[in-house]
Amino acid sequence: MSAPRGKPLPQPTPETAPYWEGCKAHELRLQFCNDCQAFFFYPRIFCPRCLSENVEWKPVSGKGTLHTYVISARPAPGFENDVPYTIAIVKLDEGPHLMTNIVGVEQKPENLPAGLPVEVVFEDVSDTISLPKFQPAGAGRNA
Ligand SMILES: [Zn+2]
Repeated sequence: MSAPRGKPLPQPTPETAPYWEGCKAHELRLQFCNDCQAFFFYPRIFCPRCLSENVEWKPVSGKGTLHTYVISARPAPGFENDVPYTIAIVKLDEGPHLMTNIVGVEQKPENLPAGLPVEVVFEDVSDTISLPKFQPAGAGRNA
């Protein structure tokens, strides 16, 4: 039997590096368009609404609601010890949607109602990468 493969890690690019630097500091940061006054995600060099390049990185609340999810019982390579795990879309209070995992709660549908208030927690997975995950709001403290 072979050992499980390591998990793939995000590879920051010039466009995404500020996002990952924020995560490393345990602060969720999103890009904000100074022309249409809206946050957007994923990272890119211009605003997806108005195409302005007048954008900047700002910290956000880390709060949102559970938009939708699937509970995976069939792990991707490297995730064999994590099943079942929830792959979720969280709608951030600032507007954008973000794909993530829900943690800090038993991975069962009855614990994961649509609209559940959630808050970000950060999992340090390497010296340079911390992953933003979400737990039910007020459920506990950072792992
Ligand atoms: Zn804009």
